Amino acid sequence: MKGSTVSSPRGIPEPFPGLVCGQGLWTLGTRELHRRTGGVRESGAFLLGKKDGKGRRITRFIYYDDLDPHCFDKGIVEFDGGKFGLLWEVCRKEGMEVVADVHVHAGGFGQSPSDRDHPMMPLAGHWAVILPHYAGKNVLPGHIGLYEYRGNRDWTDHSREGPSYFRLETPQK
Ligand SMILES: [Zn+2]
Repeated sequence: MKGSTVSSPRGIPEPFPGLVCGQGLWTLGTRELHRRTGGVRESGAFLLGKKDGKGRRITRFIYYDDLDPHCFDKGIVEFDGGKFGLLWEVCRKEGMEVVADVHVHAGGFGQSPSDRDHPMMPLAGHWAVILPHYAGKNVLPGHIGLYEYRGNRDWTDHSREGPSYFRLETPQK
């Protein structure tokens, strides 16, 4: 029996557009982002995984500077578009796709004009996460920037409703 063909009295649930990640992976990944800043420059990563009606599930961090060692030479994210081939290779090999990206700011989690105008993945439905304070303080939904790309340089800011749009899962005991 396929769940999608069954209509419940409450109707068909809306597909969840947001992000899902295991708590352990998020803790490790954001700690690594913090480490890579050295407290002096930004850091960032592509977030790989799968997406379906239950959301965009993050299962792997691919750090920008592992693909492009010069990405942060000027202190902020300047990813060389020529390095995307390496990213697509990882996606193809592991059967994943890029479900979101994350980068770190020195200060707050608001989008800079450059963040708004130059999405890492200019695809509607893509999510950009921004961690404040070099990812050295609170990195949990509700305290971080969560932006959904609508296309055409248009974004929806979900930061305030963070926990509703970014679910961190703890393993069942
Ligand atoms: Zn930024």
